[in-house]
This record gives sequence, structure tokens and C-alpha cells, in this order.
Amino acid sequence: MTILLADRTATFLDLDAREKRAAGEFASSDASRHYAPELRLEPIHLDLHLTIDLYARRVDVELVHRLRCNDEGADTIVLNGLELRDLRVEGDGVRSSYDDVTLTLAFDRPFAKGEEREVRLRYHVIEPKSGLLFRSPTKADPNAPRFVASDHETERARHWLCTVDLPAVRPTLRIRLTTDASLTALANGRLVGEHVEGATKTTEWALDQRCPSYLTCFAVGDFVRWEGGEVDGVPVACFAPKNLYDEAHLERAFRHTADMLRWIPKRLGVPYPYPKYFQFAVPDIGGAMENISLVSWDDRFLLDAALETEERQLLDVINLHEMAHTWFGDLVVCRDYAHAWLKEGWATYMETVWLEAERSRELADFDLWADARAYMKESDERYARPIVTRRFDSSWDMYDHHLYPGAAWRIHMLRKLLGEGPFWSAVTTYLQRHAGGLVETDDFRRCLEEASGRSLAAFFDRWLHTAGYPKLEGRFRYDARRNEGTFELSQRCSTGKKDAPLFELELDLAWWIDGTRHVKTARFDRERLVVVVPMAKEPERVRVDPDLKVLHDLKLDVGEARLRNQLEHDDVWGRILAARALLEDGKRASVDEVAAAFRREKVWGVRTVFAEALADAKSEPALEALLALAKDHDEPQSLAALMRALSTFRDPRVIETLERRLEAGLPPRAAEAAWEGLGQQREAAPFAHLVTAADRTSFGAFAQGGALRALAHTRHEDALATLIERAAPGRLPIKARPHAVQAVGVLLRHAKDAARERAIEALRDLLRDESPKVRDAAAVALTIGRAREAREDLERHRARLTPQERVRFDRRLRALDRGENGNETEKRVEELEKQLRKLTERLEKAEAKLNGSAS
Ligand SMILES: [Zn+2]
Repeated sequence: MTILLADRTATFLDLDAREKRAAGEFASSDASRHYAPELRLEPIHLDLHLTIDLYARRVDVELVHRLRCNDEGADTIVLNGLELRDLRVEGDGVRSSYDDVTLTLAFDRPFAKGEEREVRLRYHVIEPKSGLLFRSPTKADPNAPRFVASDHETERARHWLCTVDLPAVRPTLRIRLTTDASLTALANGRLVGEHVEGATKTTEWALDQRCPSYLTCFAVGDFVRWEGGEVDGVPVACFAPKNLYDEAHLERAFRHTADMLRWIPKRLGVPYPYPKYFQFAVPDIGGAMENISLVSWDDRFLLDAALETEERQLLDVINLHEMAHTWFGDLVVCRDYAHAWLKEGWATYMETVWLEAERSRELADFDLWADARAYMKESDERYARPIVTRRFDSSWDMYDHHLYPGAAWRIHMLRKLLGEGPFWSAVTTYLQRHAGGLVETDDFRRCLEEASGRSLAAFFDRWLHTAGYPKLEGRFRYDARRNEGTFELSQRCSTGKKDAPLFELELDLAWWIDGTRHVKTARFDRERLVVVVPMAKEPERVRVDPDLKVLHDLKLDVGEARLRNQLEHDDVWGRILAARALLEDGKRASVDEVAAAFRREKVWGVRTVFAEALADAKSEPALEALLALAKDHDEPQSLAALMRALSTFRDPRVIETLERRLEAGLPPRAAEAAWEGLGQQREAAPFAHLVTAADRTSFGAFAQGGALRALAHTRHEDALATLIERAAPGRLPIKARPHAVQAVGVLLRHAKDAARERAIEALRDLLRDESPKVRDAAAVALTIGRAREAREDLERHRARLTPQERVRFDRRLRALDRGENGNETEKRVEELEKQLRKLTERLEKAEAKLNGSAS
């Protein structure tokens, strides 16, 4: 799946991703190790009949499990199913017990190996906590679309679907949906038929390939349909709520789907395995999800013409990502979540491969840069974990920047290590051999080893099973007397742990003389590396790993002249590294050079890094440069980053520039950034202007969201009342309200006395809101606003969350309980514990001595 992560799209939903884990550990000390379930009795086919009442938000479920015995004598199976109502079990000689969490089926007569039996379950659910999203018009949201859709990753199918809710269990499916005849009813697989009877109809779908519960999907709604063509007999179509969107929105978002469906099978050497490629977009999916042959999307990704100018590439790579899961995750399923990198790392890496093949090498290189930074940031600032690990509090926790970009980079390194031929033939073998089956990390390793003759256990041990990445530091010097260049490098593991093993790197050291590239590959497996190379004359440019073969962080002092030269060359990472290094001094000359580089830069992503680096320089020349760039820069994809960079400065000239740009018209994400930037000008912000913008509805509510958050940033005395009014139901469109709630939370941090009380009161009320997004935003706002007064309300909110959401929410509650100086308190407790341990040890020794002398 794709989760809305901070580096991709700065939306309200990322709040959670930014929350640091206080202990700096991925898993809590009592987290257990997770393993695949036993399959002594295995569900091999599911026959589902769902009768859906959209308005009552009720689904009546009739579910037949066909079980097959894999182990002679087995007689029991445990299914997951949360809060299923009126559950009845029918089957030959089957006894059942149900405790609202698991259903145990015990058979009077043990199974013979290979024997199959059926068990029929009947129950109903009414708007379950999760797993199903219901929407229909209500008093608070009269324009709500009409639909119900499933949404499962990682362990949320069990909220309505009673099965073994873990990926190792993969039955084939038959899904019958009985519902209002006017609605469209979609599910995994091929359409078997549709049968109308008066005002209701039953639509039947069948999937003959095996499908885990997290990829089982259906959607019923009043949908508009866009036909996206056909690829080798596979129809492509997309759906969205009819009252909110039209075909043009779908066409804009998904227009490259058929092209991608042609490209991926060619790249992988394995045909598309399913009968259709359908996608639907509805509110509140919270990302995009690769359900077999029925991909679901949050409607936040649908595009109008203006948003398309900024997010064309974002849409394409996510589309590609979800489709790539067809092969990595759907056709070849990870046996358990420890190996989830085999799907998320691969889907993320396929984005890069597609950019390189179908767009440009430079866009792919920038994608690798963004992936590396996202992974390193999480690893440095939150926690460092092995990519493959069995210890986690919730499988949902695994879906982080280690799993996506961190794993993608490891796959990229393997590709560079093996070379194109062996690597891709290994990938084809891996997919063919395991098609329809389950995989673990070693299955992939074996295919790579077979295709290349290499031994990769050491690579997998260091890069997949051990935490951290190499941080390199060093310098290059040229000795004109001896005509020698010297590379000096040191390496350490990013985790900083003393016992962390070093990395065995094959590192390319490159230099250019009169435009000609020279490379020496050095084996770097110790702490320090010194390489002396004869050079006919002083090189104009020097680079470490110019072909992006090895994941690493690098600080290399090459001298200013060479940096300036690097800034002008056809080398994406080289330009980025040079700009960042040059701006470290914040001097006017360096600023001018980076500003000039921004203007001539062709890769939009590189421009965003230049803008950030200028903001980080925090000098007057940097501000002047950003003002000049922001005046007339008009490439939409890098515009928002430029507005954000400029907004890090508080200055009347910034206000003037942002206002002028807003007045002339900005695309939505850039407008969002500009409004927020105006708010960040505090008391100088144009408050009345912001209020007007906060009431102006817009597609996707991006600009409006920016204006709402801006009101909070101003800390103006009227901001709180203005925001509370807009957070309440009825005033703003449903998409904008969570932004208002979030803004109240931002203010809460700074509010005192009566204002603080008022904000907490309002947020407490919003915990009971009809919209789950508003409720979640209110809960987050109360925790980040450190409202311990609302502890009980937050407990009640917690009770409404799913088990996997609770793990994250509990971290927030613990942070709230620790209070503002949580880290310090924790450190102090740790110290005291250490002292106590020492004292206890001494006491025990003393006692032992005493006992010894007494006997
Ligand atoms: Zn994914």
C-alpha cells in the first residue's frame, strides 16, 4: 500500500508519521516475536454472500469456509473475527466457541490428510470500527457520497470478515453482493453475473487465484465509471462517487494505467495474472491499497487541472507502485510481516525503475535521493531497525520508511551488484517459481545467488538483518608536486552502536580531468580508507560513488572550486551535494551560485532541495535569493517547496512576495504552502486576509487547509475562536474540517488559562464527531497540545480504535503522561534504575559473602 508520508505530501494525515518514539526504539521492550500461523487445517476457498444496507450501515454475512487438512489428525482451527453479531456456525460435527475476538472451530472427528470439509458462518456487522468504510448523507454532511468499501491492511479484515486474518492464508474467492439495484458493486476477480430482483440486485464475482484476507476487497456505491482501455484482454476501469467527481477527474489521475500495465510485465518477464485491473477512489482510505484486481485509493489523489500540474508524477508513481504489488505481494505473497519488505520495498523500487525507463534517468536518480533521505531521516531521528524483523508491537508499525525507501535502496544495491542481466533474470525466476505461493527473504536471496553465482548471505546479514547504514566522512586532496590525488575516508555505522559491524563496501572513487572521467574501485571494509592515485594534473571534479551503487551518507571535503564545478554537471546527486556543501557557510557568493543553479536546473526535485538548502542557510543573502526566485518561478512541481523555503524567514518582504503570488494565482499545493507561510509571519500576518482564505472552498481543500493552519500559526488573539467555529460541524466542507481541528491543536500548545480551557472543551466535543477523520484529528490535537485534563476522554476515544491503531495511540498517551520533559524524565529513571541494579548486585554479593562466612 501507499501511506501518505510526510516527505511525499504534507497533508494532515502525516501527523502520526512525525511523532517521535520517545525511547528511540522500534519495538517496545515487551513486544513479542511474530510468526506465520499453523496451517494444519487451511481455509482454501471462501464463499461470501454479503447483503448490504448502506443507510443502516449494516452487512449481513453468510460465509462458507472450505477447509483442507494438511496434517493427519488435525481437528481445530482458530479464526479471527471482532465483535461479530448473532454469530451462528453450521457444519458436520463442528463445535464452536467465540469470545468477540477469535472463533475456535473444533471437529468431533479428526481430519484425514487431504480431506476437505465446509463450515458455514452467519453473522452481521453494523458499522464496524474498521475494515469497512460506510458513507451516506447525514445531517452534518448532507452532501456525503453513498458507498461502502473494505479497507484492510494490515489486520483489519477481521472487523467484518471471519477468517484467519494473516497473509499466509489464501483461499480462492466467490463474492456475492446483494444491494440496492441502483448501485455499482465491485469485488476481486472476474464478474460472474448480475441478477436484478425488484429494487435489489445481486452481483457475483469470483477469483480463481488465491487471495489473503488483507487483499480481499469489495466496494458498493453510487459511482461514476471511466474506461481506461484494455491490455491483452484485461479491462482497465476506474470508479469514484458520482456526486463528487466526474470522468475527467478519474481520467486525469489514472490516464497512464494501461501504459503501465503494458510496461511492467515486459520489465519483469511475467504476464499480468488477474482477469481485470479496476481501481476506485473514495474518501478516507488514507492512502492507496493494492487489493487483487481492485485497487482502492483515497479520493485525495483525484486531480483537477490545477492539481495535476503539481502532482502528475506523484499520481503516476503511486499508480505504478500499487500495480507493481500485483507481482510483489499479490501474486507472490509474503509469508508473514517480517518479510513485508519483499512487497513494499519492491513496489517502491519499481517506481524508480519505471521513472528511469519511461521518464528519465535524472528523475530516477532524484527518486533514489529522496528515498535515501527519507530512510536516513527516520533511522537517525526515530529508530534504526533491521529491515527484516519479527519483533514488533503491531504489524502496522512495520509500514515505515525502513520498509519502503530503506528496502527499495537495498534492492537497488543488489541490482547494481549483480548487473542488469543476472539481476533481472533472477527476478523473473523468483516471480515464476513462487507465483501463487508464499515467500520469505531467503527465497529471493536464493534466486539472486543462482542467477549470479554469488554468495549473498553476508550482504543480507548486514543490510537486511542488521540495523543501520554507513556514514562516510573524509576529504580529497591533490598534491601538485607528486601529481597524486588522495582520497581519505572513514566509515561508521549510523546506529552509533559500538558492536555494530562495519560495512564491506565496493566504492567507486571518480575524478575528472579535462572532462574525462576516471574511476578506481576501492574495497572499503575497515574504519579508514586511504587511496592514493596518480593524476596527471589537478582534477576539476571528484565524486564518491557517482553511479549510485551504494546506500550511504557522505560528507566529503573536496574544496570549493571542485564543488562549484560539480554544481554545473550532469549529475543529480553531485549537484545536490555541491549545493548543500557550498551553502554551509551561507556566504553571498555561494548563495548566488546556488540561486543561479536553481534557475538553470532541469530536474524539479533538485530545485526543491536547492530551495531547502537556501532556507537552511538562514542568512540575509539566502533570503534575498529566495525572494528573487519566488518572484517569478513558475514550474508547478517545485513551487510549493520554494514557498515553504521562503516562509522559514519572518520578514515584511516575504509577506509582500507571498501575497503577490497568491493574488496572481497559485496551484493548490503552492497556495497551501504560501498561506501557511503567511501565518508563520505571526503578528505581521494579514489576519483578515487569512480568515477569508480559510472560508474559501477549493478542490481537495489544500489551499483552505493551508489558510486554516495559518490562522493557528499567527497566534492572533482571535485565531482560536475563529478556528473553533470552523472546526464544528456545518460551517466548512468535510474535507476542510480536519485541518481546522488540527489548527486548534497547534494553538492549544501556546494557549493559556481561559483560552486553553476553551480549546480543550472544543476538542473534547469533537472527539464525538460523526467524521472519523475529525475525531482522530481532535485526539491527536489533544495529545500534541498536552491536554492531560482530557485524559479520560482520550481513553474513551482509544476504546473506539482498532488494535493496530491503539499501539500508535498508546505511544501518544504515554508521551502525554510523561509531560513536556518526557525525555529527561525517562533518562533520569534509566539512570536511577542502573544505580539500583548496581546496588542490588553489591547487596547480593555482600549477602553471599556473609552467608559464606556464616556456614
Ligand atoms: Zn505498497
